[in-house]
Amino acid sequence: GRIGAGLLALFLVAGPAQAAEGSVAQRVEHLLGQMTLEEKVGQLNQLSGKEFTGPATAKVRSMEAEIRSGGVGSMLNIKGVPDTRRLQALALQSRLKIPLLFGLDVIHGYQTVFPVPLGESASWDLEAIEEAARIAAREASASGIHWTFAPMVDIGRDPRWGRVMEGAGEDSYLGARIAEARVRGFQGARLGGVESVMATAKHFAAYGAATAGRDYNAVDMSEQLLHETYLPPFKAALDAGAATFMNAFNTLNGIPATGHAGLQRDILKGAWGFKGFVVSDWGSVREMVVHGYASDLADAAAQALTAGSDMDMESNAYSSSLAAQVRAGKVPMAQVDDAVRRVLTKKFELGLFDDPYRFSDPAREQAALNDPRHREAARRIAGKSIVLLKNEGGILPLKRGLRAIAVVGPLADARRDLEGGWIVKSNAGHMASLVDAVREAAGPATKVSYAPGCDVACRGKDGFAAALRAAREADVVVLAVGESWDMSGEAKSRADVQLPGRQGELFEALRAIGKTPVVVINAGRPLIFENVAQQAGAILYAWFPGSEGGRATADVLFGDVNPSARLPMTFPRNMGQIPISYQQYETGRPVRDEKNIVYKSAYIDSPNTPRYAFGHGLSYTTFAYRDLKLSQPSMGPGDKITLSFLLANTGKRAGTEVVQLYLRDPVASVVRPVKELKGFQLLRLQPGEERRVSFTIDRETLSFFDRKLAWTAEPGKFELMVGSASSDIRLRQAIELTP
Ligand code: BGC
Repeated sequence: GRIGAGLLALFLVAGPAQAAEGSVAQRVEHLLGQMTLEEKVGQLNQLSGKEFTGPATAKVRSMEAEIRSGGVGSMLNIKGVPDTRRLQALALQSRLKIPLLFGLDVIHGYQTVFPVPLGESASWDLEAIEEAARIAAREASASGIHWTFAPMVDIGRDPRWGRVMEGAGEDSYLGARIAEARVRGFQGARLGGVESVMATAKHFAAYGAATAGRDYNAVDMSEQLLHETYLPPFKAALDAGAATFMNAFNTLNGIPATGHAGLQRDILKGAWGFKGFVVSDWGSVREMVVHGYASDLADAAAQALTAGSDMDMESNAYSSSLAAQVRAGKVPMAQVDDAVRRVLTKKFELGLFDDPYRFSDPAREQAALNDPRHREAARRIAGKSIVLLKNEGGILPLKRGLRAIAVVGPLADARRDLEGGWIVKSNAGHMASLVDAVREAAGPATKVSYAPGCDVACRGKDGFAAALRAAREADVVVLAVGESWDMSGEAKSRADVQLPGRQGELFEALRAIGKTPVVVINAGRPLIFENVAQQAGAILYAWFPGSEGGRATADVLFGDVNPSARLPMTFPRNMGQIPISYQQYETGRPVRDEKNIVYKSAYIDSPNTPRYAFGHGLSYTTFAYRDLKLSQPSMGPGDKITLSFLLANTGKRAGTEVVQLYLRDPVASVVRPVKELKGFQLLRLQPGEERRVSFTIDRETLSFFDRKLAWTAEPGKFELMVGSASSDIRLRQAIELTP
């Protein structure tokens, strides 16, 4: 039985390499010792398999030959049991029978689509975020995938940059906690479990700070900002065990991230001790030539490898020139060996040498991709990600038993759009749109009408009349507006992030007939929608909520789910405020001159404050904070302080509050932001329930990155703030760090 099959499998894949026994490190060394330079370079070569799904062209045949010759270490964009098995079989025909790694962008689900990562991050619910990644891993791994190119842990403070959709928002602390949760979710308890995929912390580094929010654009950044804000989520992903890192397309202070030895060798593999491997971004080795950093592809290959990029995704730079560069003495063999060792180690840890097909299991694939529990989780997690931005006069939740509801707007009957970008498979054919979900939720007694009014982006107003007619006959109007799925994501930078097309005018037209709509907004980024913000009765920011997003939105509209999500990014009032973050600095202004004239750091045509602050989000209940206590008022270097307070649900429904702890260091050797998030907790309370909540303050809480480029906590006073949003501080208390 089992033993027989195991022996047979061993016999089938066994070559000289697999005869070795012992620890992973010993097996890696044994194998490395048998490899030619070309075979080593092959392990560092990653190709896209998009072509393999089409006809067997000359290109496909030559790629097949390359795999059989041991010239390919990894494939991306190959998925599903039959295709991964077919290509793995080719790799096992190579001299050393080294299995392929299959990587794929499993960003927010594989078959079951969860909210886009920014939306999911709005839940601030680390267990839910981990669970979503776990389910994605379960589905993808059954389909032959070993490795996902996620999580993207880039900090995003500029909504023009379309890839904010893929991240955890603007804050380093929140981003670090979410990075850990996603890595844990994808990788499970340890690599090597069949339901785990390797995670990738990307894009190393500072990719999210693209100048003017234009994707791929250059980044200039101080060491302080880099280390304090942009790197911590990467470090957190590493500490959570992230098996791989991906570098980035951008230059950082003049050096392409892909060729950046300071980032990859000194920080990542040096100071941080990263043992996994670094994959380049798609074609980013080749792009170093276009940047004006490498003279040609061969130079790019040499510079990328020596800077610490272990695997070349789709540039064909390593495969075409690395061996020659080694022979010419431009690249030390030891660095190639180091890169190969890192890649082989992961293949051993995944168990691929013991069973190269263990991730491609038809029965498991069938079960995982059709598991109803995954869809239930997607609905529950989407419900946690929808932010109630505004709710005037308690217009929400909607009451059941209404006579008529009009669901209007270009996204009211959307399905594919709800899934957002970066999906592997669309569920649009069998999804509920918002109209479908409102019909289900309202029950047969309520008439639910629908009219799109206009398209998301087109200029026509012909549909307004039908939408207004539907609205006139209804007790409640729900208006669904926003972006189409393909407006946010990679290469989807927008110079103007206002509500596109005529959607704002559709809202005005509804107002003009006396309606106060409940507005549902779908988008992958913070949008600007001033007229809606000012005049809507209620606003739900639903992001791209995934394949169960229609139902999840209806759950919140009808109060079956009490919203608890909080903004992970600041929402500006206008384009001119961008980039914007709650982590502002005091400027030295306002000041008064001798004539008593006030000079401020302000716009003459806009407030400084955002439309909605970082951490903002309402509930159908209310919470009160009181009785802040400290275990001690001051602490020495090795001490800790416990801060606690009472939180009460003062409303009529059970609800979840996201309590947030902020810090200010009022005087320091490097000027500190007016507020920095240092902790948060989700508390679910019944009506009338009161509970004591506590946070621990230690030296790390008080630390920042100083002028000597080291983390330090300087003795002196610190201000602690507890509240419901960065703009809604309820309790404050000073503490002191003694020398
Ligand atoms: C993106 C990466 C992605 C890769 C592979 C690149 O264009 O920047 O995030 O993982 O493509 O699809």
